[in-house]
Amino acid sequence: MAIVRLKPGREKSLLRRHPWIFSGAVASVEGIDAGGGMGDTVDVVDSRGRFLARGAYSPHSQIRVRIWSWDPEEAVDERFFRDRLVKAMGARLEFVDRSETNAYRLVNAESDGLPGLIVDRYADTLVVQCLSSGSERWRDTLVELILEISGHRQIFERSDAEVRTLEGLAPRSGMLIGSEAPERLEIQENGLFFEVDIIHGHKTGFYLDQRENRARLRALAAGRKVLDCFTYSGGFTISALAGSAEKVVAIDSSAEVLGLAQQNLALNGLPVENAEWVTGDVFQELRKFRDQGLSFDLIILDPPKFASTAAQAQRAARGYKDINLLAFKLLKPGGILMTFSCSGGVSEDLFQKIVAGAALDAGVSARIVEHLHQGPDHPVALNFPEGSYLKGFIIHV
Ligand code: SAH
Repeated sequence: MAIVRLKPGREKSLLRRHPWIFSGAVASVEGIDAGGGMGDTVDVVDSRGRFLARGAYSPHSQIRVRIWSWDPEEAVDERFFRDRLVKAMGARLEFVDRSETNAYRLVNAESDGLPGLIVDRYADTLVVQCLSSGSERWRDTLVELILEISGHRQIFERSDAEVRTLEGLAPRSGMLIGSEAPERLEIQENGLFFEVDIIHGHKTGFYLDQRENRARLRALAAGRKVLDCFTYSGGFTISALAGSAEKVVAIDSSAEVLGLAQQNLALNGLPVENAEWVTGDVFQELRKFRDQGLSFDLIILDPPKFASTAAQAQRAARGYKDINLLAFKLLKPGGILMTFSCSGGVSEDLFQKIVAGAALDAGVSARIVEHLHQGPDHPVALNFPEGSYLKGFIIHV
């Protein structure tokens, strides 16, 4: 097996079981074959040659090794992956309320001890993403095991996320197992129905990480005039209407996703006349609403990722401040703001400061009544804080 030797003192994060080794920590690499070693299993040793961990080598990525195991006796083979997959999928049976939900994440990459591997369930179809050299290397084994353990017979691959290019991997997507890829899949979430576009949709098709927060909104929406910013396929809009919101105004820059959201509303037999669809830029539309003197009882801000890394946080902060400030101005006294950030580069602490700054500039006094996060099917390994990317607040003005 090839050996990755770390520079003196660079083993600290590994001893805390953080699963990434950055290229800057590597002193030397021995025994990698001429092909470059993409996805090869390597032993990581400290500067004195002591075993630290075993992982997948990635010659092109800043993250040079992603750790599979800290146990020198544990081989990385089919048995290893079977064990990890059984544990990950079993945890969902314990923690996800599946009584009225058939779409959720089965495998959450690093946090389930399987770096780079995502498996999402959408009713009878699974969507798999291999986002690292290691998961790519073991793809065939993983797919076979996933079929066997899950009992599902349709697997679609969406290994086309941006991050693959950092690993030096080309995008790939298509039906892996089963018949023709369905243009639209119907799923159930919290008793509501949604059509999901697994072929072209964002992420693997649906923002599964917001399930619990949509249920929370539904419980708060009754009788309220709601503004849903960044609607996508309608998760929050439909939950608000299911919770007897008086009216929902939904904004998204993509007419196509709003079309799907409209279909989803009809699918649930909810009063379509209570929804108003606005195709436009949230930054501009909120300004227009402000100039028109509009106001709302409840506003949801669920923007796309503004910053992946801490280095991009400053620019992201301006974006978050802008929309949160506008939202505070559009809220009636006593109103509720449900505001999110899914930027890995923006910590919860920083996000709270940004939102506090927005309230200050808007001249409103407000308090956090609830902290929101991704659901239990998106767990965060204690040794991998990067896994905690979605944070939100319910704020009472
Ligand atoms: N709230 C959604 C997920 C939002 S994803 C849900 O629960 O499913 C982010 C959405 O923001 C995408 O649909 C994208 O089309 C939209 N978007 C991105 N930038 C935008 C902008 N500046 N103005 C309006 N919509 C935007």
